[in-house]
Amino acid sequence: MNFEPIPEHEALRDSVRSFFDRELQEPKIREMDRARRVPRDLWKRLAQLGWPGLTVPTEYGGSGGDVMTSAILCEEIARRFPSLANYWVITSMAARVLSESGTEEQKAEYLHKLAAGEFLMSFGMTEPGGGTDILGLKTRATLEGGEWVVRGQKLYTSLADDANAILVLCRTHPPEGAKRSRGLSLILTPVHQEAVKVRRLELMGQRAGCTCEVFLDEARAPADAVVGEVGRGWHTLLRTLNDERIICASMYVGITAAALDLTVQYAKDRTAFGRPIGAYQAIQHPLADTAIELEQIRLLTARAAWLHTNGRECSTEAAMAKLAASEAAIRATDRCMRVLGGFGLVEESPLERLFRDARLGPFSPISNEMVRNFIGERMGLPRSY
Ligand SMILES: Cc1cc2nc3c(=O)[nH]c(=O)nc-3n(C[C@H](O)[C@H](O)[C@H](O)COP(=O)(O)OP(=O)(O)OC[C@H]3O[C@@H](n4cnc5c(N)ncnc54)[C@H](O)[C@@H]3O)c2cc1C
Repeated sequence: MNFEPIPEHEALRDSVRSFFDRELQEPKIREMDRARRVPRDLWKRLAQLGWPGLTVPTEYGGSGGDVMTSAILCEEIARRFPSLANYWVITSMAARVLSESGTEEQKAEYLHKLAAGEFLMSFGMTEPGGGTDILGLKTRATLEGGEWVVRGQKLYTSLADDANAILVLCRTHPPEGAKRSRGLSLILTPVHQEAVKVRRLELMGQRAGCTCEVFLDEARAPADAVVGEVGRGWHTLLRTLNDERIICASMYVGITAAALDLTVQYAKDRTAFGRPIGAYQAIQHPLADTAIELEQIRLLTARAAWLHTNGRECSTEAAMAKLAASEAAIRATDRCMRVLGGFGLVEESPLERLFRDARLGPFSPISNEMVRNFIGERMGLPRSY
């Protein structure tokens, strides 16, 4: 076992922190949260720093980063601006799907642009009928006159109103018997066409990242717009699930760390009855509990990332990391709120935003109930759904 920090990882952490200190400080972040937008100019600036291209292979203009590196970048972004981290997660997953399952033409067309911050792709899986029972989706696509015609509706498609294209999971062929996962395809559908209508849904947390309802009323996509094998879209997605869970876990590690840092400082500075409030056990104990949980989720996430990066099986560990980190972030922000007293509720306090931003974790990208079901199954218990 080696817990020695890796110099490249530490350099990446330092560079992210110094970017925020120099160019994206708290007042600007608060402004974007209130405006509910990550401006495209900011995304272009981040492209100069190589962030959107971190997981794009080097031959397509990125730096070919592994999951360990991705988790570090995501954690550091989330410490300051979780909505931006979520934006980054979606882009990094787009890079992974395209580079692992795209055709040579798709890679050449999209990956350079994605690394340059000029192409944004959303994921359209969830529908109004449900997100957990995703295989019951209703969106259909058929090949008509040499192109795909997509009919249906998606819900909670993050970044769709900023995106150039949505990777739409839809049924192109009938299921094979009871196997609903068969016959689904991933079609890269351009957003900017009359037949695609996008409606923003305003969120309580992760506001600047935004999520949308998408109406696909005979939307068109070229015949070669399928990413991965036709009829095997679900299996294409499964290849990226562990990456996504580990990177999401790192986002909640970042939120927990940020909440703890700022609250410990507050407990040192704020006085009551002539002493810093941090001198009282009632304040110290929840902070100590949070510090322990932070260490636990950091280790779980790091181990899952290490397993993934070294080509080992990691689906249980990735699921555990996502669940533990997302729930720890909720507990941490709640405890820290109490320590901050009234200031925790004021918008000037970053904790107010962290508290809201942490709320997404227990059900995205998969609900923690389903994660528990999965872990139960991995222990050899019967499938519960
Ligand atoms: C801000 C935001 C961004 C999102 N971004 C995207 C995106 O970009 N693309 C995308 O496709 N989706 C996205 N989602 C959707 C997200 O993945 C779903 O919300 C999630 O999968 C849960 O689906 P649901 O909300 O439809 O809940 P439901 O499926 O209706 O579930 C409701 C509750 O029932 C529980 N439940 C259901 N079935 C079982 C079972 N068998 N056992 C135990 N419990 C069960 C669930 O865990 C949950 O607690 C986003 C959601 C939000 C809020």
